[in-house]
Amino acid sequence: MQTIAHWVDGKSFTGAGESSAPVTNPATGVVTGEVALANVADVRAAIDAAAAAFPGWRDASLARRTQVLFRFRELLNERRQELARLITAEHGKVGSDALGEVARGLEIVEFACGIPHLIKGDYTENASTKVDIFSIRQALGPVAIISPFNFPAMVPMWFFPLAIAAGNTVVLKPSEKDPSASLWMAELWREAGLPAGVFNVVQGDKVAVDELLDNPGIKAVSFVGSTPIAKYVYQRATANGKRAQALGGAKNHMLVLPDADLELAADAAVNAGFGSAGERCMAISVVLAVGTAGDELVAKISERARTIKTGDGTRDTDMGPLVTREHRDRVATYIDAGAAAGATVVLDGRDVTADSESDGFWLGPTILDHVGPEMSVYTDEIFGPVLSIVRVESYEAGLALINSNPYGNGTAIFTNDGGAARRFHNEVEVGMVGINVPIPVPMAYFSFGGWKNSLFGDAHAHGTEGVQFFTRGKAVTSRWLDPSHGGLELGFPQNT
Ligand code: NAD
Repeated sequence: MQTIAHWVDGKSFTGAGESSAPVTNPATGVVTGEVALANVADVRAAIDAAAAAFPGWRDASLARRTQVLFRFRELLNERRQELARLITAEHGKVGSDALGEVARGLEIVEFACGIPHLIKGDYTENASTKVDIFSIRQALGPVAIISPFNFPAMVPMWFFPLAIAAGNTVVLKPSEKDPSASLWMAELWREAGLPAGVFNVVQGDKVAVDELLDNPGIKAVSFVGSTPIAKYVYQRATANGKRAQALGGAKNHMLVLPDADLELAADAAVNAGFGSAGERCMAISVVLAVGTAGDELVAKISERARTIKTGDGTRDTDMGPLVTREHRDRVATYIDAGAAAGATVVLDGRDVTADSESDGFWLGPTILDHVGPEMSVYTDEIFGPVLSIVRVESYEAGLALINSNPYGNGTAIFTNDGGAARRFHNEVEVGMVGINVPIPVPMAYFSFGGWKNSLFGDAHAHGTEGVQFFTRGKAVTSRWLDPSHGGLELGFPQNT
C-alpha cells in the first residue's frame, strides 16, 4: 500500500505528524493508500519553504514566470490521461468526466499564461505639472489553497496558476479523500522548472487548515468546500487579517417553462443532475417544472435516466460510485426521507446493479417527483445522484423559490421566450446563470462564484477577480526635480 506524503521545497516530505488516513478506491471499496495528516510543525515547514521562495519568485521577470507556465501547460496537456486516471482511482468519477475536469483546469493555466497583460498597470503623464502617476499590482506572498474532494485537480487550478503567475508562492491543502492529484501536479511543476518552494502541498485535516488560517506567514486563503466550513474559514482567516475567498455549498435549480424545448431540457437535467454522480457544486439538484411542462418533462427525464450505466469509472460506464461508503449511505437516507414525506419515487437508485464485481459505493440515478419545499431532500445539499422535481404554477412561483433559497451558486432557465430569459437573468439572485445551459460554469477569463451561502468574501475565482485577489494595488505619484521646484508648501497637495 502506498504512503501519500507532503511536498515541500520541491520534493516529497514525510513530515513528523503521526496521524494518517486511509484513501479508498470508491469503485472497489479497497484501501489503496494511507495519506499523512500534517501536524502543526509540518505545515510550518511548508509555509517556511513558501516564504523563503517568495522574494526570488516575486522578482523573477514576467518573461521567466510565463516560460514556466507555458511549460506546465504543455506537460499537463500531454499527460492529461495520467492525471485523469489518478482522479478516477481516488474519486471514482468516470474517465471522460475526469478528463473534462483536467481540461477545465488547463483553461485556467492558459489564461494565467497571459499574466503580463493581466497584471499591467496604468500610467498618467502630467497629472499635475510635471507630476506623473502610475499604478502597479504586486504579489501578496505565500497564499493557501484549501480544496474539496469533488475536483481534486480543477479546483486547485482555479487558483494556483494565477497565484503563481502573479508572483506569489503557494501552500495547497487538498482533500484527504483524494490527495494524489496534488502531488502529481507538484511533480509536474518541478519538471516545468518552477523553483523549489513556490508550490508546496500539505496533506491533512482541520489541524493543517487551522494552522494555515492562523499563521501570519500566509497572506491570503482560497477555500472551496461545504458551507459551514467555508463560513468558518472565512471568519477565522479574516479575523487574522488575511484576505479570504471561501466558496461553499449549493442547491442549483433548473426552471423549465412550458414553452421550452422539452427534449433539450430533459437531456440537460439528466446530464447536469447525474454527471459525476451529482457530486458537483454546479449539479442540478432541483427541476422546477412550470405548469403543463410537468408530466411530459418527468417522463422524458426518467426515460433518459433509466439508460444511465452506473459502474466502475475505468469501464465503459456513465456514472461512477459515490466517494465514500458513509456518503453513499447518507444520500440514500435522503431518498428514504423523501419517500416517507410523500414524494413519488420515479426512479430508485437504491436498487442499482452496478457494472462491477466489487463492493463499491454504488447508488444509481434517483428521481423524486412532487417534492415539496419543506422536505429535507429539497432543503439540504445532498451531493449525490438525486434529482428532485418540484411542480410550480408559474414563472413567478419558481423564481420566488430560487430567490428564497439560502444558496446562490448556479441556476438555469429553459425556455424559448427571450423576454422570459432576460427577465430571469435580471431578477434571479444567483451568481452563475444558464439560459438553456444547465451547468453555467464560466470560462477561465470570466470569474466563477456564487452568491449568499455559496460564497463568503468579495472575490470570485479566476478571471479578472482572480488576478485582483492574488495581487494588491499600489499607486505611485512621481516628480523628478527640475528648476520649477516650488519650495515649501504645507497645505494638502492640490493639482496645478
Ligand atoms: P468539506 O467542507 O468537507 O471539505 C473541504 C476542505 O475543508 C477539505 O480540504 C477538508 O479537509 C477541509 N475540512 C473539512 N472539515 C474541516 C474542519 N472542520 N475544519 C477545517 N477544515 C476542514 O467539503 P467536501 O466534502 O470535500 O466537498 C464537497 C463540498 O464542497 C460541497 O458542499 C460542495 O458544494 C462544495 N463545493 C463548492 C464549490 C463551489 O464552487 N462553490 C466547488 C466544489 C465543491
